[in-house]
Amino acid sequence: MRVARYTTGQEPSYGIVQSDPDTMQSSWIAQIHGDPLYTPVAGTGNRVELEEVRLLAPVIPRSKIIGIGRNYAEHARELGHELPSEPLMFLVPNTAVIGPDDPVVIPPQTSECHYEGELAVVIGRMCKDVPAQQAASVIFGYTCANDVTARDLQRSDAQWARAKGFDTFCPLGPWIETDLDTTDLGIRTRVDGRTVQDGSTSAMIFDVADLVAYASSVFTLLPGDVILTGTPAGVGPVEAGQRVEVEIDGIGTLANPFVRR
Ligand code: MG
Repeated sequence: MRVARYTTGQEPSYGIVQSDPDTMQSSWIAQIHGDPLYTPVAGTGNRVELEEVRLLAPVIPRSKIIGIGRNYAEHARELGHELPSEPLMFLVPNTAVIGPDDPVVIPPQTSECHYEGELAVVIGRMCKDVPAQQAASVIFGYTCANDVTARDLQRSDAQWARAKGFDTFCPLGPWIETDLDTTDLGIRTRVDGRTVQDGSTSAMIFDVADLVAYASSVFTLLPGDVILTGTPAGVGPVEAGQRVEVEIDGIGTLANPFVRR
């Protein structure tokens, strides 16, 4: 199922995105009670057309976003790095999260802001030391992410907290797909409609199960925690006024305008 968080001008709600049986396009949302990360999914009986809602970030992590660097060999090479022998983790504050169509604000501290299209894993239950073979049991679902990076600050700072952590630097959406085989998903990024990244999750050095196992060997993972699984080759700059789309097969497309204030 596809779990969306949305508003029609009132308090945010969760719902299950339903497809038109003729076109198979996502077209309306069946509202559910509460937060599906914490309560069983039960419909309220209300229905709303997808085009009449504003989609919000499908999850606001209460605890943490775990980023993974250099998890695609071609991307590591394009930045001039060796391949990692174990996952390279960093943390992103939850205040960086925004939803579909929300503007990414390029801050004055950077003159080299990059997009990074990524598959995001949403954790569904509290866990620690999860074996890779059991990773699926702790995953709630998957969404698209843009791991926006101030590349100049990433080079100048020993830690990536600033380069990755500015407000609005972690767009998530458009919804969470709970039933997905992530072994070979096409992942594409477009800037103003031009394809700039065109990869497959099959090229990850460490797959989703490996990353859940590795992260949970360090941190207790909590419901709503998000793991960004790394970006394929083709990263590059984005300027104010441009629009970046991240599309992943089986999930959908996350689009955000970039602005300067
Ligand atoms: Mg990244």
